[in-house]
Amino acid sequence: QWMKHSQENRRLHRYIQEWKGNIRVVARIRPSLLGKDCTPLLDFIGDDMITCRPFNSNPLSFTFDQVFPPHLPQDSLYEELQPIIASIWDGFHSCIMAYGPTGSGKTFTVFGPDGKGGVVQLAIQTLFDLVLENNELNLVPTISMLEIYNETVRDLLSEDPLANLEVHEDTTTGDVFAKGAVEMEMSHYSDALRIIQSGLDFRTTSATLLNISSSRSHLLCILKLRGDHGNTGSLYIADLAGSERVTHSHTQSERLDETKHINRSLSSLADVFSALRNQQPHIPYRNSRLTFLLRPALSKTGKAMLIVHVSPEEEELSETIQTLRLGQRARDIELRPSKGQDSSNILLRRQISLLRQQLADERNK
Ligand code: ADP
Ligand code: MG
Repeated sequence: QWMKHSQENRRLHRYIQEWKGNIRVVARIRPSLLGKDCTPLLDFIGDDMITCRPFNSNPLSFTFDQVFPPHLPQDSLYEELQPIIASIWDGFHSCIMAYGPTGSGKTFTVFGPDGKGGVVQLAIQTLFDLVLENNELNLVPTISMLEIYNETVRDLLSEDPLANLEVHEDTTTGDVFAKGAVEMEMSHYSDALRIIQSGLDFRTTSATLLNISSSRSHLLCILKLRGDHGNTGSLYIADLAGSERVTHSHTQSERLDETKHINRSLSSLADVFSALRNQQPHIPYRNSRLTFLLRPALSKTGKAMLIVHVSPEEEELSETIQTLRLGQRARDIELRPSKGQDSSNILLRRQISLLRQQLADERNK
């Protein structure tokens, strides 16, 4: 239903997104797969707080920009995501990252059940809407699908998907790209679904060929709108590798190596967040392929949303707490716009509150 909202409404939402600060961290708890009601170990207070009750210790509370408890359907995420997706039109580089341990629901969020109804498909629908609304601009949505495994980057849409791609930086534009990655044009929605499925199928096949589990790699979809006058912004959607800590069953050397690489890239993501938060002059983007590729979105002009995923099952509780802690840390960041814009803040504030009001009126109609 959200998709049917007018262009005007989307514009209002973009203003609000501006106001919200540029990194948002939301948490999603998947339903129990053991047929239990949600565990009494997790409590949801309001729409932005989770309380955890570990045995024999005090409850812990975590606050996010928004919490999506188990019973909420996939659609409930859309309202939260729509503004960041639509900001591609304003030339922003944005990213939406699904973070969490294996089995917590990341792929479900990103690609939906049966390859439908996920964040990627929603984003593509939005791009097709923009194409229609701006018919005269001859815009074409494109998609790239990359996999990052043990610090090597592969192109899931290429003829030769086992080849390793180098990551390059264009020092004049600041653009970072995987050299030679296919940017596939999507002519219509069903075409897009077919392309995504081929990338996902390849992810599975190559994982089998290389004897790895696909949950041990990061998958990155990069969406753009290509027009006669160059590209608009870009949207990176990441289905990140499982964040779980090493377990004793993973003692084989290649598994250890794999875990080290995953830990390193996820911790470099955390390092980038913390450098941004502390406004350090040097942001360590280059410590992993993941952060290097995501740099345009993880900069002062970018926008990012981290969707922290956790499982409701009791046996996962310590992993759940670990994951929520990281999310909480990431949330303390706000990428402020560059100096000099402060004076307009009051005007902006006023304008935003007007727009909020209009939007609320619109909804109540
Ligand atoms: P991950 O990608 O984090 O390893 P998955 O997305 O594969 O986890 O989810 C693990 C299992 O839980 C899958 O069987 C998936 O269908 C199911 N699942 C995850 N999230 C939800 C949800 N919100 N609603 C219903 N089932 C879900
Ligand atoms: Mg997965």
